[in-house]
Amino acid sequence: MNDNLRKIALERVKILFRLALENANCRPDLAQKYVKLAMKISSRARVHLPREYRIQVCKYCKRFILPGTTSQVRIQPRREPHIVLTCSHCGGITRIPLKRKETK
Ligand SMILES: [Zn+2]
Repeated sequence: MNDNLRKIALERVKILFRLALENANCRPDLAQKYVKLAMKISSRARVHLPREYRIQVCKYCKRFILPGTTSQVRIQPRREPHIVLTCSHCGGITRIPLKRKETK
């Protein structure tokens, strides 16, 4: 039963993020509303947001950020290679490690 609930929750989160993406340019307020709702659903159902969605939300101000418009994306090759996402609302920095590919 719990698994079923999580599946439904994840389904809704996916739909909400898709809607947020579609409305990001013309209705940013609406996009923000969708993201907020998606996060609420995921916490209620106790499911983690998939990584692809997690990077679309600033972890500091919880706002919907889109690479290239409301966030800056830089690749940092030094030390452990990683992506740096800078939120243009609050300036918060999120680092995403890049997994090194096995060379074979
Ligand atoms: Zn932010």
